[in-house]
Amino acid sequence: MSEVDCNAVLKRLWAFLDGEADETLCRELEAHIEACLHCRNHVDFERRLRAVIQVKCKGEQAPPALRAALDRLLSGSQ
Ligand SMILES: [Zn+2]
Repeated sequence: MSEVDCNAVLKRLWAFLDGEADETLCRELEAHIEACLHCRNHVDFERRLRAVIQVKCKGEQAPPALRAALDRLLSGSQ
């Protein structure tokens, strides 16, 4: 098993996705994420969420449907 556990990955996930984690940490996180379905799902979710947020921030205003979808995502209901 990896030395990095799920909590460590999730705590550093935003830094990782922002490219702020250093190279060693990045490689450890990537190795864990590759091996761990739970974290992989979480990373997929965060990546999609961030893509939505970036689109939202570039536009003048988020369409109401997008905002509703985002609220649903954030509240954790499917
Ligand atoms: Zn994990």
